[in-house]
Parts: sequence; C-alpha cells; structure tokens
Amino acid sequence: MSSRKTIIAGNWKMHKTRAEAAELAKAIVDGIKGQHELPEIVLCPPFTCLVDVKAAVGSARIAVGAQNMEHRDSGAFTGEISPSMIKDVGATYIVIGHSERRQYYGETNSTVNLKLKSALHHKLIPIVCVGESLDEREADLTDSVVSRQVGAALADLSKDELAPLVVAYEPIWAIGTGKICDSKEANRVAAMIRSTINELYHGTSFGDTVPVLYGGSVKASTIEEQMKQPDIDGALVGGASLKAEEFLPIIAGGAKRVQLATSNK
Ligand code: PEP
Repeated sequence: MSSRKTIIAGNWKMHKTRAEAAELAKAIVDGIKGQHELPEIVLCPPFTCLVDVKAAVGSARIAVGAQNMEHRDSGAFTGEISPSMIKDVGATYIVIGHSERRQYYGETNSTVNLKLKSALHHKLIPIVCVGESLDEREADLTDSVVSRQVGAALADLSKDELAPLVVAYEPIWAIGTGKICDSKEANRVAAMIRSTINELYHGTSFGDTVPVLYGGSVKASTIEEQMKQPDIDGALVGGASLKAEEFLPIIAGGAKRVQLATSNK
C-alpha cells in the first residue's frame, strides 16, 4: 500500500438546498465522530451551499470543495465564480474538468489547463477529472484519450507547482449509470495515468506521489474491492454521496485503506 493520501470526495452536483446540504454535512460529521484513522473527506456541494456546509462541518476533519470555477480572478464574467471567491468561503478543494462540464458546458483540455493553473496559483487543491467515453473505450482508445487529457491538463506546469495535484479517473460511461469499471481495469488506468505523469516529467517519479481516485457509480458495495487496488487512492462519488447512510460506508472503505497503509509502515 502506498504512502499517498487516501481521499473520499462527494460531488453533490446540482442537488440540495442550503438547509438540506447543512443537514447532510452534519450527518456525515456525526457518522465519523470518534474515528481517528480516516481518509481525507471532501464535500463538494453547489456554490450556494458552500458557506452552510463549511459551517456545518465546523472543526471536523472534513474539507469542502467547489465543483467548478472560472479561471480569472474577477471582472465582467456574468454568472461565474472566481477562485478567490471559493477560497473566501473556506473551500480548499476544486473539481476541475468533470465530464459533465466537458459534455454540457464546452470545457476542453485547454480550459482545464487554465483552471488548473489558476487553482494552483490560488492554493486550491485541484481534483482534475479525466476519462473516456463508451465509444472511445470500445474503439480501444482509453489509454490514448486519458493520457492526452492528462498531458493537456498539466501543460506548462512544473512538478513543484503541481505538488498538490489529485487526479480522478472517471470513465464517462460509468458516471451515474450504475455501470462500474472493473476494479482491476480501473487500477490499470490509474497506473497508466501515473506513468504518463512520470514520462511528462522526464522519467521522474513525480507521478508516483499523485493520488489517483476512481469515480463512476461507486457505492458501499463496491468500495472495498476498489480500495484494495494498489493504484486507486480513493473515490470521487456522485449519487452515493447524497445520503449519509450511503456515503458513510464509502468513507469507512477509505478508512480501511488508511489503516492498512499505517499497519504496513
Ligand atoms: C461523479 O459525479 O463524479 C460521479 C462519479 O458520479 P456517480 O458516482 O453518480 O457515478
């Protein structure tokens, strides 16, 4: 088991009112009370709930993140939220390039790169999402598509600048569909992402330090197998993060991985 951080992140997408979000965050806080060996837990509610979720988690070991951001700091960009605004509400993580952003809002590998640079500049921890479509998988293009996404996202950034980077491998065909990428196959792609990063940084082992999460219909019933994989360092969870009773067992799956890593030290 590696010494990389284990991260369990919940992407609440466009769900929850402020009161509902605070209630869910409090239920998660209650559910982890008294536990010491926990994964890094990250809750990513809609922008409108960030303040409430931050207040609800209080001093618990739970980080808060946003699901998207504009890369510029301020200006005439109607409807956008800047990195400094996200920091201002106490969020520390930012999801970048989620496939739903790429699919419905025209985000590209180059906008992902701009956002990643801006997030790092503002000291937000980026979770950069990559993953292939079903057509790409069936055409045997998974590795080339994913490695191209990784290369484009990281363009013009040094490994020192990228130190906080987290990558989420999220096969698009597995997101919100109930179809799960076989854990060994997800592990293979996660390892491929890591070696792509090593190659980008001229044969260094920087990629070996980058946490790679798996996302795509993760559930309580799948997390154990996923957390046994040596190259999968956690999960980015959509649907199953919306109810405490479904998300807490996933956190427990991450905690087991942390315990295993500690006992192997
Ligand atoms: C996601 O939103 O990133 C995701 C993986 O969703 P789900 O778990 O619902 O497939």
